[in-house]
Amino acid sequence: MDLEHWLGRAAQAIQEWADTFGPYHPHPSLDVPDDRFAPVFAEFTARLRDNYPFFHPHYAGQMLKPPHPAAVVGHLTAMLVNPNNHALDGGPATAAMEREAVTRLAAMFGYDPHAHLGHLTTSGTVANLEALFVARELHPGRGVAHSADAHYTHGRMCHVLGMPSRAVRTDAAGRMDLDALEGVLRTGEVGTVVLTTGTTGLGAVDPVHEVLPIAERYGVRVHVDAAYGGFFTLLAGAEGPEGLPPEPWRALARADSIVVDPHKHGLQPYGCGAVLFRDPAVGRFYLHDSPYTYFTSDELHLGEISLECSRAGAAAAALWLTFRLLPPTPDGLGKVLAAGRRAALHWADLIEESDVLELYQRPELDIVTYFPATDPAALTAVDAASARVLTEGMTGTDPVFLSTLRADREAFAARHPKVTADADGARILRSVLMKPESEDHVEQLHERVTRLGRTG
Ligand SMILES: *Cc1c(COP(=O)(O)O)cnc(C)c1O
Repeated sequence: MDLEHWLGRAAQAIQEWADTFGPYHPHPSLDVPDDRFAPVFAEFTARLRDNYPFFHPHYAGQMLKPPHPAAVVGHLTAMLVNPNNHALDGGPATAAMEREAVTRLAAMFGYDPHAHLGHLTTSGTVANLEALFVARELHPGRGVAHSADAHYTHGRMCHVLGMPSRAVRTDAAGRMDLDALEGVLRTGEVGTVVLTTGTTGLGAVDPVHEVLPIAERYGVRVHVDAAYGGFFTLLAGAEGPEGLPPEPWRALARADSIVVDPHKHGLQPYGCGAVLFRDPAVGRFYLHDSPYTYFTSDELHLGEISLECSRAGAAAAALWLTFRLLPPTPDGLGKVLAAGRRAALHWADLIEESDVLELYQRPELDIVTYFPATDPAALTAVDAASARVLTEGMTGTDPVFLSTLRADREAFAARHPKVTADADGARILRSVLMKPESEDHVEQLHERVTRLGRTG
């Protein structure tokens, strides 16, 4: 795709539509002549250079990458109209696109495409907040259990909602420990279990299929936070090394609610999360009257099934356009995720053979965690070496961008009992290989990080 060409076509297409309403001129108060714009634009673009190169394969740090060009064109084109998906009056076209895109997400997880409730949100945080809100309405007075490795948003949002929350121990792979979960459920204080399929730190996948029968026995709901990992369901049972054990992913179809962030693995710009409910009847918890909106129809509007009011119709447009070209199917978006996962597995193999680096644990998705082998093998030394590699990696002529993750002493000991626990924990290195281009750069990355690790 030639981005410049399609951005030009976008402006043209919207202008042609605008012209059908008859002539009009922007007010002089808004006028910005090009000769005034040019120097400010130059300053602006110069300032934007103060960024890490998220697009580049040598950026192997946090969960960051630019959107697909189709999402960029979709977003900017719709933004020229600037619909608000709060209500149908705010933009019928993008409201319809949102419904279609959300139906595709629901189908991807095995929800009934004709009987579910769901909408886009501004983020995974808001999407999870909505799922926890519905959980509270269905089990008033009962709290939430999530794993100790779940995103910190769950504890925080439970606080916002006035619900108690319990962090359940994780096992040596970073998954929720089921005995510990049962211990918490036996108290009767929990109404909803939050599972994570793809933890933000390690990419660990909680065993949804094993928790569902337990949850049923205790009469609790299951919410799955698949904000990061959701699209990996496209690799469930796939042929080849990138294939994932299908059980937890197939079980998503039976979860009560699911959150997924198209702005993480769905090629979208920020401002695109999604929440899905298996039972459309939970829409009743959102119902309210609005004196301002909803004048054009009697249908249930997106604004009536969402806690957020104004939301960018452009986000729905971008997702819709992307899904038309790279659908959330194994042969579409699945191929993008497969490449990142192969990259992670390849790098993990190289690290396992290395004397300089050690794997913290095998990647379950596309997140590689590792640390420099130190002498003595102790947490303080690992912490210092990881921090040094992170900083030194970003400097010089051949930079590499990594991130660190804090592992506490128990988690470290469960994986590396020989490393002396002389501190509460240690930073380790973490590389999210979410760009398919990473696949062709693994050896260079490994070589570069090994060199950094060796000079310690
Ligand atoms: C990123 C993430 C969130 C938070 O989502 P935002 O879109 O950053 O608000 C929640 N849970 C998990 C598992 C995540 O990876």
